[in-house]
Amino acid sequence: MVWDFYSLLLAIYMMFSFMLVDETATLKLCPNCYKAFFTENEDDVYCSENCEM
Ligand SMILES: [Zn+2]
Repeated sequence: MVWDFYSLLLAIYMMFSFMLVDETATLKLCPNCYKAFFTENEDDVYCSENCEM
């Protein structure tokens, strides 16, 4: 099974999000800069306002 870099990153992200999830904070992966970040807002997609633009 060969995974490209993005798939690997996604798998790691999924793993961490299951491991670290708690009631208030969710680990998400910014689709712009590919940094993982915690947010308390379910609607947050990007890590910062800069990435949102
Ligand atoms: Zn970002």
